Amino acid sequence: MSNLIAEIAVTAPLKKTFSYLVPEELAKSARIGLRVRVPFGRRRTIGYLLALREGDADGLKPIHELLDEEPLFNADLLKFIRWGAEYYDYPLGQAIRTALPGGLSGDQQRVTILTETIYRALPTEQPPRGNKQQQLYDFIRQREDVPLTMLRENFPAPHAALARLVELGFLAADKQEKQRDPFFSQELPGDTDLVLNDEQQIAVDQVTAAVVADEFRSFLLHGVTGSGKTEVYLRAIETVISLGRQGLVLVPEIALTPQLVARFRARFEPAGRRIAVLHSGLSDGERYDAWRAIARGEIDIVIGARSAIFAPLDNPGLIIVDEEHESSYKQGEGFRYSARDLALVRGQQAGCPVLLGSATPSLASYHRTEQGLMTCLTLTRRVHSGALPEVELVDLAEYRTETALAAPLIEAIQQALERQEQVLLLLNRRGFAPFLLCTDCGTSFRCPNCEITLTFHRGEGSLRCHYCDYSEPPATVCPKCDGSNIEPQGAGTERLEQELEELFPGARIARMDRDTTTRKGAHQRLVQQMMQRKIDILVGTQMIAKGHDFPGVALVGVLGTDSILNLPDFRSAERAFSLLTQVAGRAGREGGGRVLIQTFSPDHYALECAAQQDFKAFYDIELPLRKELGYPPCGFLVNLVLSGNEPCRVLAAAGRLAAHLEQQVRDVEVLGPSPCPLARLRGKTRCQILLKANQRSSVRHALSTLEHVQKLISSYVSLTVDVDPLDMF
Ligand code: ADP
Ligand code: ZN
Repeated sequence: MSNLIAEIAVTAPLKKTFSYLVPEELAKSARIGLRVRVPFGRRRTIGYLLALREGDADGLKPIHELLDEEPLFNADLLKFIRWGAEYYDYPLGQAIRTALPGGLSGDQQRVTILTETIYRALPTEQPPRGNKQQQLYDFIRQREDVPLTMLRENFPAPHAALARLVELGFLAADKQEKQRDPFFSQELPGDTDLVLNDEQQIAVDQVTAAVVADEFRSFLLHGVTGSGKTEVYLRAIETVISLGRQGLVLVPEIALTPQLVARFRARFEPAGRRIAVLHSGLSDGERYDAWRAIARGEIDIVIGARSAIFAPLDNPGLIIVDEEHESSYKQGEGFRYSARDLALVRGQQAGCPVLLGSATPSLASYHRTEQGLMTCLTLTRRVHSGALPEVELVDLAEYRTETALAAPLIEAIQQALERQEQVLLLLNRRGFAPFLLCTDCGTSFRCPNCEITLTFHRGEGSLRCHYCDYSEPPATVCPKCDGSNIEPQGAGTERLEQELEELFPGARIARMDRDTTTRKGAHQRLVQQMMQRKIDILVGTQMIAKGHDFPGVALVGVLGTDSILNLPDFRSAERAFSLLTQVAGRAGREGGGRVLIQTFSPDHYALECAAQQDFKAFYDIELPLRKELGYPPCGFLVNLVLSGNEPCRVLAAAGRLAAHLEQQVRDVEVLGPSPCPLARLRGKTRCQILLKANQRSSVRHALSTLEHVQKLISSYVSLTVDVDPLDMF
């Protein structure tokens, strides 16, 4: 007898899919792209419906329940996710779960928040009493209708005070359909009609030609900061929309790129185009709503971070990856995909062009242009100020200093302040000091769970692990020698900020790092204050190098360069080059900026090239080094990480796995096992085996031999596979 049979990917760590019988009462509604509840072993689990066929259902278990009315993905998207799951060697069901909007991972029915409370100030003669109530009231009175979300962003726990104000007749509260704009407090810039310069015009022409031809082609838009890349994106997307297709724009992190979002909105919303912004601040319900709207074809442009590569666009006409060199495009756990790389795959599958943009392209992308796989479009000039800033390397060997700032930088800051110019200081390390040291016996304070020193956070009075978030109060007495000479060593942003306050007492100094921007809206507020020139000196981690332009910045200083260069990773030079070039590009947008980089290695090629802002020169030195060692982009890597609670089991398993691989693989170097650079992390011992090959097919073959490897490594040890690893800590 013939029955309807469904192919299901269950959300379990299993590569294969399973067949289930579709019971008659569900046959009418069963469709590809639905979540289902199915029996699995002795439990029940959630799965995704991948395909339907007629066949013999003998011995098949029935699907218990369909969890959605409308499909969450279609066959095209499924094909794409499937490609990713296979490539990254990750279970399909879990890959689908990663791709779908949060909140749908389990079996919740959709969560919807359709309304929210809007507050309006009522006229009064006497202002309300109480500081907080007064502040809230003033805030609301200065605006018109203020949604609760906005108040929550600006005031800690406003609920009680709001309720009181309503009760006392100072405020009116209404339920309204929730506005889905994540940046509704954002002011849109005026959109101006620009005449493209000839380089921009060539770039736009090439990309739009591919858009019109409806074919996959890939482009690398290489242009210094301020050269007008975003304008090229906007123009290309105009064509996409006019053809009735949709644009997908990936950015490293939405919160750091409000300006890009604002420019898209200013250009397209007045014409009635709909933009969906996918970001981590959305509630599950909002994310689901956005997802549905995209799938129904109601959205013209999707802007989002990494996971937006899975947005269910029906008919993508162009995929843009801005700042394509950014490491945040690679997911660091679970489904370890690279959205940048997957963008190329999606473009290929959908038959649409892909445009990668950067001032400092990844070696990988530039290599592709040299191989003729990708077309390089170059913007060589800044639109506004012709001149790139002047970069000087300050040799720290010449300026012995007790403090974080060496004399030339102090002097330059002084001059900038006198001229009322803004200063940006990059120190890529948060906290007060990277470690505390007993200067009597040399004891330092380490994380009990990770192989790393604890960072001293002075403001918050703690020693904190930046990996597992363990924290303890800072010791005043050494636990080893009872000495009391415990001193912070090295400097983080917090210490730099303090040093600046002592050196420049009149200056307005602010700090931007993960510690000062945890509260919603805090980052944007700092950016705004910078824009309005309410800050003279902004200290921060790499966050300050990203996404936003500060026209008033005339001086950029870089500290702690050597710790970036000396990370034990073959990409450390590339990272340093890229970060320094990006931050240097923030100086003097209005002409004549200055950049000072403090370092002990002023002769390092990454620094010299960054000082010249010369990507090609860097590439020409770096690529031969990679080639010699067979590292990407001149080779392929897979990192196998084994971890577990018991060191001896982990080591034994790693040994067995390496031996197995040595035996099985061809044309692949098996490096290790060796301890991971962070050999202990969150209490687990970690070992890695690195597979390296000249051909992608060889590493793929090596991975295929891992199918039944769990037996080899015992159930006390877990194995994660990282294809094209970026970060090997
Ligand atoms: P990028 O994305 O490369 O950093 P942007 O696209 O943000 O550069 O351009 C920098 C500034 O120059 C923006 O304020 C933009 O509006 C402006 N701009 C871009 N192209 C032109 C042009 N052809 N003529 C005048 N101004 C332009
Ligand atoms: Zn830790």
